[in-house]
Amino acid sequence: MIEGSRPDQLAQVENSIRDFTDAEVAASESQRRLDLAKQAVLDEVARLRDEAESDRDPSLIAVLRHVYWQQRGISSRALAEAARMHVNEMLVAIGPAPSGIACATCGTGLLRTSRSWKPSRRHAGPPLCPDCEAQKREANSRESAGYWLRVRFINEAAVSAPARDWHAATALVLAYPPLSLRVQPGSAHDLQDGIWLAWENARTIRDRLIAAVAAGDDLFECPAKETQLLVETALRMAGWDTARTRDLLDPITSESAHGLLTRLNICRKTAVEAARQRAAQLFPDASETGADGS
Ligand SMILES: [Zn+2]
Repeated sequence: MIEGSRPDQLAQVENSIRDFTDAEVAASESQRRLDLAKQAVLDEVARLRDEAESDRDPSLIAVLRHVYWQQRGISSRALAEAARMHVNEMLVAIGPAPSGIACATCGTGLLRTSRSWKPSRRHAGPPLCPDCEAQKREANSRESAGYWLRVRFINEAAVSAPARDWHAATALVLAYPPLSLRVQPGSAHDLQDGIWLAWENARTIRDRLIAAVAAGDDLFECPAKETQLLVETALRMAGWDTARTRDLLDPITSESAHGLLTRLNICRKTAVEAARQRAAQLFPDASETGADGS
């Protein structure tokens, strides 16, 4: 008896509670039936395994295949245990099943390899079969390999100019060590602006230049990438203190820093353009040569 309730209200509550407990009993009975039925299936699998000569017995595999793919209520672990196999072993033995999803490129039906399988969608693209997936990957790496080969070839293009011009450009950069710019080596400013990088770049070019001049060379060659950093930095330095710039250049040349550096930059652009055309022939895009790579 629930205190404080009227008899008619109470009767309704008692009815609903009785319905609820009846339903609970029914649910636990059906859960029990379900467990027994599940166990009966697993017992049958275990019996088949006992009777089979090996875990590759065709009738055992057929049953495992059916239960695994069609009866999701039976866990894969319990099923594999009944067959005295590891889940992965069982998956290999029973093989994949149709997924109902087609490859976006060739239309082949995709196969599920496990219950938790999802179609492969690399780079958020449409689902692809393993063959098309592999082809696409190969094409991508071929293209990007070509791209990086071209970039490297262009960066390494030799820029040739009179040794005197290189001497002037490196002198301008090396005259202003990064410390005088109040930039700490390795600081965020240094890393962002590459001030030490530019200075070290000039220093290595100057060292090679000295060796080349000592060997009697009037012309000096430098890779395009290094030349670009050298000229950009030298132009910045030259603009800061025109009197100091003149003092630095006087022992080397009477030409203006701007004129000299512009000429060096034109040499660089010419070398880069020639390298770009050559690289396009040497390392073409896969897309330009056709999908078969011919
Ligand atoms: Zn395909």
